Amino acid sequence: MSPSPSILILLLLLLFFLPLLASAHSSPPAVCIIGSGIAGSSLSHFLRRYSSPSSSCVPPRILIFERHPVVGGRMATVTIGGETFEAGASILHPKNYHASNFTRLLNLTRRTPPSSESSLSLGIWDAQTNRFLIKTLDVDSNLPSFVQKIVSFANDLYLFFRYGLSLLKMESFVEATVNKFLKYYESLETRPVFETVEEMLQWSGLYNLTTLTLEEELTAAGLCPLLIQELVTVITRINYGQSVSISGLAGAVSLAGSGGGLWSIEGGNYQMASGLINISDVELHLHEEIASISYLGEYYELNSTKGDTYACQVTVIASPLDELNVQFTPPISVPPRKLQHTHATFVRGLLNPVYFGLKGVSEIPDLVATIEDPDLPFTCISILKRHSESEMTYKLFSRNEMSDELLDSLFSVRKETIRIDWGAYPHYEAPEVFAPFILDGRHLYYVNAFENAASTMETSAVAAENVARLILSRFFNKCPLSFSDTISSGSDPEVLLSDL
Ligand SMILES: Cc1cc2nc3c(=O)[nH]c(=O)nc-3n(C[C@H](O)[C@H](O)[C@H](O)COP(=O)(O)OP(=O)(O)OC[C@H]3O[C@@H](n4cnc5c(N)ncnc54)[C@H](O)[C@@H]3O)c2cc1C
Repeated sequence: MSPSPSILILLLLLLFFLPLLASAHSSPPAVCIIGSGIAGSSLSHFLRRYSSPSSSCVPPRILIFERHPVVGGRMATVTIGGETFEAGASILHPKNYHASNFTRLLNLTRRTPPSSESSLSLGIWDAQTNRFLIKTLDVDSNLPSFVQKIVSFANDLYLFFRYGLSLLKMESFVEATVNKFLKYYESLETRPVFETVEEMLQWSGLYNLTTLTLEEELTAAGLCPLLIQELVTVITRINYGQSVSISGLAGAVSLAGSGGGLWSIEGGNYQMASGLINISDVELHLHEEIASISYLGEYYELNSTKGDTYACQVTVIASPLDELNVQFTPPISVPPRKLQHTHATFVRGLLNPVYFGLKGVSEIPDLVATIEDPDLPFTCISILKRHSESEMTYKLFSRNEMSDELLDSLFSVRKETIRIDWGAYPHYEAPEVFAPFILDGRHLYYVNAFENAASTMETSAVAAENVARLILSRFFNKCPLSFSDTISSGSDPEVLLSDL
């Protein structure tokens, strides 16, 4: 008996669809990351490093979406007068071990400031009295090195006479915080995977620092008010554009960023992001902004402003959500947070000494810093490069855009000006309230929830490492983790990281 035409059609349909069904079943799950800064790029790196290939686990596809035509986010460079400088995140701390590790892994070159740069003269400008409250001596790099050392020692003595033992108390406050932070480099065997930022901070002993302001913490640590109002305020203004009413933790991180041994990456810190993406087998979608994320049962549907649609089993937001225009279905809820805008203005030209009541440009300190004063139009001015006695490249930070009129009063010569408005970091407060790492109880993750603790390249990488482990333990929980490249507890993280 020959089969009826309807059975034949059914058989043909099965023959056609079976291979498709089989391939759909074995097709790898997609992890979609929104943002190609250090958070998104290091997340892709940690996902690859910590998952060991096994027969039961298909390695995920990793897709990164970046709305800009370049990767790096707030790690970016600016070219002025034909020369390139860091425009956003510029300095790394000597104990930023993930960044150290990335630098080594990617064969990048560390740039440490030459001695002339590390001993820049500092002036704290007071607009009310039109004078410098403090002005340290200029350590002229043309002088013999023993003279440079004497001048630098005189500067230290000067600061010691002004602030006394409070300087040492400030140092131990910073050191104690850095030591607690080092717990995030402990071995995976002893370090839990954290589901919330609060849990992560409590485990390292850093949580309490987010409940009081920096001013309250430092007063409790016995620092004199003069040091808090002057030097500490200067540093928080430079690093976070804010006053000492930021949280104690953000403040300690900011103070750590003013110590010795700071470094950066020759040619631009953004190379950490591009390098990590290159080695992590990522499908990179540049110039593609994600406009909506909808949970459709088994997966998230991402729609981009290009009109393309992507199905992702796991979705990660690796950017601050505060100023993003992404539509979530169902809606998500995160505590309201303001971003602090920092206007970075780059000028090739020459400052006008008259603005500062001085006779010659050489009398202007290399770093002009400021204390809190609502009338002050800038936060700090620093020399990026001295081309000649009559031409330099400067970087200015301010809370509002610097108008041409204002710049013309500050500069006697202005050949080129570039302005960047950064949605730079959270506007910190105490007590801090944190958004969740897991936004919907399923597989929608948020790395930058950690940014309320502190905003740096390293803290983003530390948060990304935790989120990578969260994804691997929650979504890929049947797949073995690779422990090969982690740090053993009790060992020196730097030495171990060098072996990766
Ligand atoms: C002026 C300035 C100075 C700083 N100085 C330092 C410093 O010296 N040292 C230090 O360690 N840190 C510094 N920081 C902080 C540091 O830059 C940040 O903490 C860190 O770079 C944040 O990285 P991220 O990957 O978390 O976020 P980002 O670098 O902001 O990356 C997020 C990325 O997501 C992309 N994106 C957003 N929405 C979408 C979308 N819908 N679709 C697709 N892509 C999207 C963005 O374009 C961006 O590239 C500074 C920051 C600024 C602004």
